[in-house]
Amino acid sequence: MSLPSILIVEDEAPLRRFLVPTLGTQGYQVLTATTAAQGISMARTHNPDLVLLDLGLPDADGLTVLRELRTWSHRPVIIISARHQERDKVRALDLGADDYLTKPFGAAELFARIRVALRHTAQNTAQHAVFDCQGLRVDLERREVQARGETVRLTPIEYRLLEALVRRAGKVATQHQLLTEVWGPGAEGQNHYLRIYMAQLRKKLEADPNRPIFFLTEPGVGYRLNSE
Ligand code: CA
Repeated sequence: MSLPSILIVEDEAPLRRFLVPTLGTQGYQVLTATTAAQGISMARTHNPDLVLLDLGLPDADGLTVLRELRTWSHRPVIIISARHQERDKVRALDLGADDYLTKPFGAAELFARIRVALRHTAQNTAQHAVFDCQGLRVDLERREVQARGETVRLTPIEYRLLEALVRRAGKVATQHQLLTEVWGPGAEGQNHYLRIYMAQLRKKLEADPNRPIFFLTEPGVGYRLNSE
């Protein structure tokens, strides 16, 4: 059995000192790079199963690494960002990063993000996607939606939005990704569409729409369908 390998591209030594043993205890094979150039070269040599990528690297922006990586790899990339890098984080997600962690983050959050990202890779080949979590069941093949045992009728737009979230269950979806997938490229910037339809999904599918457990807002970024 081969263990999943994770490449950490991060210049901050204290963070590497936290990440390397923490991931090691979970059985991952851990590789590290401290610059963008080294990150690109190690990714090419080792083809890791997942990359943890810092956005602020000494020689180049982390987005450079992501762009290069995405020319040949579809494996998951999780961005590590600082609080002031909100815009870069959203750009990274739109450029094909899978998810992000904002510093400082704990081990539980790290493991959850990695689990979801690796699970998605494994599921890419499985056609029959069913989301089933705490009373919410969405069958994408049959286009069936149930909440707490009851079938729920959704409008075509509501269903399309739900489908876009289910396909990324557990991962963040940016406003840009959701708007273009559900309404098309012309809807770019119409963030109020999302607020309106997300409120409708919460009303129809959450037990308490004011305290959502499934449809979570990621401020300034987008939304996440919670799958834990
Ligand atoms: Ca850094």
